[in-house]
Amino acid sequence: MMKRIYNFNAGPAMLPLEVLQEVQSELLDLQGSGMSILEMSHRAPIYEKINAEAEADIKELLGLGDDYCVLFMGGGASLQFSMVPMNFLGAGQTAAYAVTSNFSDKAVKEAEKVGKVVIPFSSKAEKYDRVPQPGEIRLPENCAYLHITANNTIEGTEYSVYPETGAVPLIADMSSDILSKPIPAEKFSLIYAGVQKNIGPAGAVAVIARKKFIEGRSKALHSMLNYETHLDNGSLYNTPPAFAVYIVGKVAKWLKAQGGLVMMEQRNAAKAKIVYDVIDMYPDFFRGFAKTGSRSLMNVTFGLPTEALEKRFAVEAEELGMGGLKGHRSVGGLRASIYNAMPLAGCEKLAEFMEAFYKIHK
Ligand code: PMP
Repeated sequence: MMKRIYNFNAGPAMLPLEVLQEVQSELLDLQGSGMSILEMSHRAPIYEKINAEAEADIKELLGLGDDYCVLFMGGGASLQFSMVPMNFLGAGQTAAYAVTSNFSDKAVKEAEKVGKVVIPFSSKAEKYDRVPQPGEIRLPENCAYLHITANNTIEGTEYSVYPETGAVPLIADMSSDILSKPIPAEKFSLIYAGVQKNIGPAGAVAVIARKKFIEGRSKALHSMLNYETHLDNGSLYNTPPAFAVYIVGKVAKWLKAQGGLVMMEQRNAAKAKIVYDVIDMYPDFFRGFAKTGSRSLMNVTFGLPTEALEKRFAVEAEELGMGGLKGHRSVGGLRASIYNAMPLAGCEKLAEFMEAFYKIHK
């Protein structure tokens, strides 16, 4: 019999079962082509339609119009750490980075190789336990853009309100909360997200951008590193990560069928509440890492009184069919990643196990 666990991994992560079943049913013969998506030319009309529909569906979910594009490319979110400053940090300008995680720190390191960077907010000294609150960020003169990490996968913090930047472009790494809730998408000049957490498998990054923002940048940029190349070619300049884009397209359709992002937010908030409620009930035992106003709906991070207990928790949970609860190697502790595809029942099962574990080990 098929065994499926509740997979709490931070990414690659759970995908909706319906999507996987559809992929399985199409694998040997995609739409009567006599071949799978894995074997198909990216110039084939079937693939061009998949690519165009994935773009259109993501724009529809975010309420974006023709002035925005969705591009799919390789290199992961990590390549975006370089592409963003290479494209948008001009000579004589300063880029601002709100540093709320290990990943924002990595983004800063790449930007510093390109030009001048200032850090108007950092929670590094508190091990990244919070994101800035409204009004906390002051931008420098001649600011090329403000870069934020919308959801901090390792630390379990997330913005619920985004900074006001006026005329300064706002850029966000949304790798771990993309399409998990409605956002004021038009506030952003560019959003990028490795798709392997919330909307697909490993292999593709989605870049959602205002077309005018990415057009007409430096001619000195290498073609593959220039967003405009990907825009001009509809994400088909070179061979794209076709299998990943195909699955992202299916997940976007699944999200629409679920009722869109308003419904996803309700569901994700309800799921997160189930787990945070247990943390709040026994705060001396389950030591929630994120400051209350910064808690993530996607990654719930907590520690236990000893490392030995944390180890035991992860092992026993695994035996009960709940995998991937060990925290990131850089911070330790435990982490439950509960992206879009994690059902409510998975969070209920985890909360029940937490209560039972507490009663035995308190
Ligand atoms: N940013 C965030 C917020 C992430 O969670 C990750 C991956 N865990 C990355 C960037 C790096 O993504 P990738 O592995 O796709 O390069």
